[in-house]
Parts: sequence; structure tokens; C-alpha cells
Amino acid sequence: MTMTISFKELGLAQPLLQATEALGYTQATPVQEKVIPAAISGGDWMVSSQTGSGKTAAFLLPLLNQLIASNPNGKPVPGRAEPQVLILCPTRELAQQVSTDAINLVKFARGIRIATIMGGMPYGKQIAQIKGANLVVATPGRLLDLCNSRAIRLDKVKCMILDEADRMLDLGFQDDIEAIHELCSARGQTLMFSATFAPRIMQLATSLMNNPGRIELASAQDRHENIAQTLHWADSVAHKHKLLDHLLSDPTIEQAVVFASTQVDSETIADSLRADGHQATALHGAMPQAVRNRRLQSLRKGQTRILVATDVAARGIDVPTITHVINFGLPMKAEDYVHRIGRTGRAGRSGVAITLAEHRDRSKIRAIEQYTQQPLQAEVIPGLEPQEKSRKPSHRPGSGRPGRSFGGKGGSNASNRQGEGKSFKQNHFGKPSGPKFAGSGKPSSGPKFGGSGKSSSGHKRSFA
Ligand code: AMP
Repeated sequence: MTMTISFKELGLAQPLLQATEALGYTQATPVQEKVIPAAISGGDWMVSSQTGSGKTAAFLLPLLNQLIASNPNGKPVPGRAEPQVLILCPTRELAQQVSTDAINLVKFARGIRIATIMGGMPYGKQIAQIKGANLVVATPGRLLDLCNSRAIRLDKVKCMILDEADRMLDLGFQDDIEAIHELCSARGQTLMFSATFAPRIMQLATSLMNNPGRIELASAQDRHENIAQTLHWADSVAHKHKLLDHLLSDPTIEQAVVFASTQVDSETIADSLRADGHQATALHGAMPQAVRNRRLQSLRKGQTRILVATDVAARGIDVPTITHVINFGLPMKAEDYVHRIGRTGRAGRSGVAITLAEHRDRSKIRAIEQYTQQPLQAEVIPGLEPQEKSRKPSHRPGSGRPGRSFGGKGGSNASNRQGEGKSFKQNHFGKPSGPKFAGSGKPSSGPKFGGSGKSSSGHKRSFA
């Protein structure tokens, strides 16, 4: 990642320069380098960029810059609920994260007020908050409720941003987005962020935007090079629970997010982990918002070590100390896999993503590998090997030669327990895998990989 341009060179107002400095942002990230000048120059833009790349500040900084320019003396804003900037997010967690980032960025600016509108929060408090707010971050459903009850008007909106537009479509927000688009149709600018420019996203862009420019920073293939991705085959759910218990005993895990396929599963897995002595808590969309907030706060403060979450609930979680993501239940779509693993390896750190799959999940694993264009390294844990032996490579028969050691001398929990510390890996194609991290000196922080003499889980060579 080349980071060469300073925020000053991007022409940002002084209060924003002070805020970026206070946040420790020394240089713009690649997405910021491209998006900030483009958004300042005007017009509509579609942006695809990697999660964790600094995309939130990439759209917040130019918008805040415009708000500062339109009120250079920082006069207090009138108490009307008529925002000039509207940011739409698919989930409450993401909306809160974006709001928090915006509040941090306006710390040194005057005359800018930020409000968050989302389901699950008391109406009265939200209505009071949006009065005089010039930037509103909202989830679509609650925003439309407030528009319908005339608690907010959108006809003064100058710029609308759709964050994680692909996710919005997944969650069925298309009609809501179009209704909101109509309510602020006089705006001069629309920015849309999405993991991909899939045809459905292009279609949405056509209906919302005027001849948008495209900024494409990373394809699915070159995403998450800082995240070591591995796979464990399991015979059954019970086997997966044993693997999970073992993997989470790894002392190099600072914090982990375990993904479950359903809300019920997230509770069950968290219960079972607690029964095994882990400090785990569940997070899913059916929980009252106050509970979700408390649990997220506890994760951010480092009080929760393991969060067991569903896809929707985990969206937008930005906690740099999450060292591991474990997929207990597989994602519905390959695209979601990329979003999930993006919860680790944030802000330039390295991370580990481990997927537990049953043999019947083979086609889903293949879809993930095809989407990311990266083979998943199949590993086994001594004493917890899958019994089913039909672990033939699913698409490209390989040589079956062993891969290189993942760690060095071992020394993980597994090795202590089972007296076998060497860890080896082999990719899902049956080919020997190069030492992606081992000895490459790539990760500068976070979990230790090769060379440390410690594997994350005491894996051994798999001749799958
Ligand atoms: P995002 O892609 O917006 O989720 O951002 C990922 C993380 O990068 C967040 O923790 C941001 O605070 C952080 N970040 C954003 N911009 C910069 C920057 N220019 N330098 C360092 N960190 C940044």
C-alpha cells in the first residue's frame, strides 16, 4: 500500500487537518487519495474499496470540508431538521461507527452537528437530536419513518452517500433507497461505496446517479493480503465445536469474532463456549439495540474476548484488536466471506481468518476460493483430524506434497496437550503452499506467524 499524500496536500480545511493529526492519521490511504479530490471536484462517484482501507474518512473528509466551507465562521446552525448531508448505512452498527468517525473528525470544527437515525432507538431522543444537524447518518427504514411523520425533511440535502450499497440490496433496502432518493432529488452529488460493481449495483447506480465516475481500488482478488486464511474440515457440528474450543484456546488471540449462520446459532455457540470456560458473548439483530450497544462497547473496550455474531450484526465492527475471525457457520455468499474476514487485519495490522467447514460445504468453499481467487489452506489439528478420509481436492488434483511449516517449533496449546507441536499447511487444491507470512516479515503487528516458533493452533501436515 503506497501512502504518500498528506491531508494538507489534499486541500482540507484546518480543523480537519487538526482532527486527522489527533487521530494519528499521518498520510492519506490510497482510497482517500483518490476519493477526496474526486468528491471535492463534484459530480457523482461509485467507489469500490476494501473494507478497513479508510473508506469512511474518504467520504467524510470531503463532505465535512464542504460543510466547513459553506459556514466558514462556524455560526450555530438553525434548529431545523433539514440536513445538507445524508449518509445511508445498511446496519445500525455501521451507522454508529460512521457517526463516531464523523464526530471525531469535527472535533476542531464549529457549526457542524451530526445526528444518527436508526431503528431500535427511542423516537423522542432522535427527533431532538436531528434538529440543527447538518450531517445525518441513517439506516433507511427509520429515516423514512421520520420523513413520513415530518420529523425531518430531506429537500435541503446536497449530497447523499450510500455506504456498503451491496449490503443494502442484500438486506432488501432497494425500495427504501429509491424513496429516499426521491425525497432528496434536488441534491447535486451522490457517492456510492460498494464491495463490488456487480450488475445489480450498476442498476442501482443508474437509477440514483448522474453519469457517475468510477474509482476502483481493489478487486476481490487482491483484498486482505494481510490476513492469513485457513480451513479446517469437520465431520459434524459437534466436531466443529471441538475445533472451535481448541482454536480459541490459542493464547495469541487478543480478540476474536466467531461467525454463526443464524441468530439462534450465535446464542448456542456463545453458550457452549462459556460452558467450556471461554469469555464469549453473542451479538445478533434480534437483540434490543441497547443490548447490542453494550456488547459492542464491551468488545471495543477489550472486555469481551470472543464475540459470536451473525453477518448483519457484525457489519461495521471496527476494532483493531480483533486478531482472529472464525467462520463457524459458512456465509451465504462468497462476498460475505470477504466482509467477515475484514473484521480482522484492520488499520494496517495482520490477522487470521479460519473457516470450519463440513464436507457437504465443499461447493461453498469452492465458491469462496473462486471469488477471492485464493486457495484456502486446509489444516488439521493433531487429535482433532476429520475422520472422513475423502478429502480429495475438489477442483484441481494436486501433487499431495506437503506444504511448508506454518510455524517453527510448535509450542501452542495443542502441542502442549498432544505432544505434537509442528504445524504444516497445504492448500485446498492439494498443492504445497508457500509461506505467505512465514519468514516473509510481512506482518508488523498482531498475531505471530512463522518464525515465532509458535503456530496459532498446533496444526500438522495435511495430505488431504
Ligand atoms: P474504514 O475502512 O473506514 O473502516 O477504516 C478502517 C480503519 O482505518 C479505521 O480504524 C480508521 O480509523 C483507520 N484510518 C482511516 N484513515 C486512516 C489514515 N489515513 N491513516 C491511518 N488510519 C486510518
